[in-house]
Amino acid sequence: MTANRPQPRPGVLEIEAYVPGKSSAPGVAKVFKLSSNETPLGPSPHALAAYAATGKHLEDYPDGSASDLRDAIGRAFGLDPARIVCGAGSDDLLNLLARAYLADGDEAIHTTHGFLVYPIATLGTGAKPVVAAEKNYTADVDTILKLVTAKTKIVFLANPNNPTGTYLPFDEIKRLHKALPPHVLFVLDAAYAEYVRRNDYEAGIELVATSDNVVMTRTFSKIHGLAALRLGWMYGPAHVVDAVNRIRGPFNVNSAAIAAGIAAIRDNEHQERAREHNTKWLAWLTEEIGKLGLEVTPSVANFVLIHFTHEKGRTATDANAFLTRRGLVLRQVGAYKLPNALRMTVGSEEANRLVVAALTEFMGKAK
Ligand SMILES: *Cc1c(COP(=O)(O)O)cnc(C)c1O
Repeated sequence: MTANRPQPRPGVLEIEAYVPGKSSAPGVAKVFKLSSNETPLGPSPHALAAYAATGKHLEDYPDGSASDLRDAIGRAFGLDPARIVCGAGSDDLLNLLARAYLADGDEAIHTTHGFLVYPIATLGTGAKPVVAAEKNYTADVDTILKLVTAKTKIVFLANPNNPTGTYLPFDEIKRLHKALPPHVLFVLDAAYAEYVRRNDYEAGIELVATSDNVVMTRTFSKIHGLAALRLGWMYGPAHVVDAVNRIRGPFNVNSAAIAAGIAAIRDNEHQERAREHNTKWLAWLTEEIGKLGLEVTPSVANFVLIHFTHEKGRTATDANAFLTRRGLVLRQVGAYKLPNALRMTVGSEEANRLVVAALTEFMGKAK
């Protein structure tokens, strides 16, 4: 049958387009955006200066191989720059990996509350997303392994995961990797790695270095505060790097992102400040919100998942409306199969205190 108009490839129209976190509250003058896991500290001042300087030469194409940036990342982590690829956000790299390794009829596994970019990237290639159930809002290695078939080409795992904030210890990551057939690409998305303070956590560098089928993706959008510039990177085996380099846009990373990224990755003090702020306020929010009788999933990232009750007037939707009226913009996570929860990014001290005060009022426990 001939269609009477162009048809997207199978899978494309099954995609539910990604809906970003809201950034405004109608009628409220002062808004605290706590919906997209952005840092309340902003970028490094050095990154801002480097960004501004690129404005003098907008006529020039960027360095298509982002060599200086890859060198700076390589130095920061002790990695071979030849095994790093930079992208327009890690979203870009996740999509490139899907395009390079998935075809019609293939399968890619992600977990129930996994990052939404995985099913979107998978469906866009004509492959099928396969969903592995979680336990206690945490990825479960055995459940993932049970779903692996000859058709499985990628396992996507965010560690820590967004929007749950939970993580798998490195022993579990290694156990998962060991049991995967060698034809499966294991994509470890470590967007929040810098925030994790657990002795049993590793982002995956060692595993990439010693395997043929593991890739780690990282981002400048979170702790580095450069989400607006769209910058991420991946570290992988030489053959995966080669495949991605063949299909990526020749200038997929812009000059401003390259310059700011180099300055950001060198500014350890700024990263440490952001980490300190997060560690302190993550613990505070978890405790204070917990005291209100709301369940908070234990998080190692820069956000918390707050669960509401089904009681009329006390649901996540009610809480979201209540907070939005006060200019406190959190993230509804129904699209992540968490219709009765809200995700809150760790904000400034002012924002954090305002949310706890507002939730106290919402729960009718005003002191
Ligand atoms: C925020 C986030 C990213 C980063 O995406 P960018 O495209 O680099 O901004 C990647 N993975 C997860 C799980 C995230 O939450």
